[in-house]
Amino acid sequence: MTPFSAGEGSAIDVLIVGAGPAGLTAALYLARYRRKVRVVHDGRSRALWVPRSRNVPGFPDGIAGRDLITRMSDHATRYGAEIVERRVVAIARHEDRTMFHARLEGGGTVNARGLILATGVDTNLAKLDGGDHNAAVRNGVLRYCPICDGFEHSNERIAVLGSDLHGAAEAMFLRQYSSDVTLIPKWQVALTEAQRRELAASGVDVIEGRVLRLEATEDEMLVAIEGETAPRRFDTVYPAFGSTPRSELAAMLDPLTDPKGCIPFSAFSDGLLPGIYAAGDVIEGLDQISVATGQGAMAATRLHNWLREQDGNVMVDQKQSEKATRGET
Ligand SMILES: Cc1cc2nc3c(=O)[nH]c(=O)nc-3n(C[C@H](O)[C@H](O)[C@H](O)COP(=O)(O)OP(=O)(O)OC[C@H]3O[C@@H](n4cnc5c(N)ncnc54)[C@H](O)[C@@H]3O)c2cc1C
Repeated sequence: MTPFSAGEGSAIDVLIVGAGPAGLTAALYLARYRRKVRVVHDGRSRALWVPRSRNVPGFPDGIAGRDLITRMSDHATRYGAEIVERRVVAIARHEDRTMFHARLEGGGTVNARGLILATGVDTNLAKLDGGDHNAAVRNGVLRYCPICDGFEHSNERIAVLGSDLHGAAEAMFLRQYSSDVTLIPKWQVALTEAQRRELAASGVDVIEGRVLRLEATEDEMLVAIEGETAPRRFDTVYPAFGSTPRSELAAMLDPLTDPKGCIPFSAFSDGLLPGIYAAGDVIEGLDQISVATGQGAMAATRLHNWLREQDGNVMVDQKQSEKATRGET
């Protein structure tokens, strides 16, 4: 990281890294708090992948993730937020702790008094041997989030790919929607006898052979299993390979993350360090659009109140001040 400099252009109030539901909600709130706020993102919101979400409140007929992001971006910019598409490659805090300094890919810097990290996660993807991955997601034969779209696969033939506890738990979760749920190991089965008994009691079928080939058609997923003559056919397949938090910027500021890179749950409410909050999927918890927007609103309000405190614009009375930082004013 190059040394902190006053940088190009004057400092803004808040830099938000990430233009998904968390970052854009935070931007809207901060813009409406009349803060000078800039969102910097690298165009990789997971929401952009959502073919049609049917669990975002207020959209009973569903909304495509891309449309939601367009609406949220328009909403935030209408109140004055700036949105810039560039990757943030480094972040540091000035030694007097009054300012953050972000370096952007291809050159350029942003200096800000406060920071919100809404950087999301990377989904660990399944590799298809036949058919196009993104088309399979669009057609609903490949899914990544049972909480989001299990309902849409009620009574269908569902397979979960994953041989560990995570896969087993996901398969049992999907039994709420279908009596035809099969757990298929990706490599070797890593389940204990007790876990196998639980799965059997829930009516989840466990296949022992390895997956040899995954092929998506327009309306089915064909899964070739070692030792079987014909591929098995499923209406949809959920890979349960987890996700990787995009927490590298948080790690540059402090050893903030756990070994798996998760940012603690309290980061949207209590902050990570003075002047730094996080929101959305990048922090541990339920990875959902509604959760991300709620955390974005909370992080923005806490940060705004923290900036007011720095400027001496809060009641000196301690209780009042604490109430304000809890967003209760
Ligand atoms: C296929 C699929 C379907 C889904 N369906 C649903 C659904 O129906 N309902 C639901 O509630 N949820 C759904 N989800 C989950 C939902 O998409 C996420 O919970 C939501 O997008 C999280 O919002 P976020 O703002 O935390 O992160 P994201 O939307 O992932 O945004 C992260 C942002 O950070 C930016 N970023 C990260 N690092 C950097 C960097 N170094 N520099 C610049 N920018 C950076 C990215 O470009 C992006 O703009 C689905 C997810 C997937 C993959």
